[in-house]
Amino acid sequence: MKKGEQQPSAQGPMEDCALCGENAATQHIRTQQFAYREGTNEVLLNADIPVIECAACGETYTAESAEEAQHDAVCRHLERLTPDEIRALRDRNGLTQARLAELTGIGIASIKRWEAGNVIQNAALDAALRALDAAHVKVTKPRPVPRFRTTFSQDTLRRARSFDLRFFPEEVAA
Ligand SMILES: [Zn+2]
Repeated sequence: MKKGEQQPSAQGPMEDCALCGENAATQHIRTQQFAYREGTNEVLLNADIPVIECAACGETYTAESAEEAQHDAVCRHLERLTPDEIRALRDRNGLTQARLAELTGIGIASIKRWEAGNVIQNAALDAALRALDAAHVKVTKPRPVPRFRTTFSQDTLRRARSFDLRFFPEEVAA
């Protein structure tokens, strides 16, 4: 870049536009409102949606991850773990999907659907995941290392005595 030249205002590198093919598309985050149906009610939720704007053809369209952003917004509204949060919960407890299914009694197919963002877990199962996380983190906390102890067999003790080595009789199993 030449001295005094202005930084381009676009965020991030140029991408190929999916509509016109020109290398003139940039991704931006736009807060978008969308309607979420809750029983008979409709609530308006905000999601930070990645959108792609093309300087060549002037079109704006949502990026592939836009649906995930909406899904996350719904999870947050319902106070449920998002797909990423479920994956993170598994990772920090060192659990595979199969092991999590085993520990909670939840079907592995359900766990896969939640992590893929196809379905949102109900309140009870969401609570079960959080409870497992809390309990698991507690039991996997490092424990103090026990003091090293050795017990000697009577035979070793006898032989050692004949060499006049010092012994600690309280350590010896009768
Ligand atoms: Zn374009």
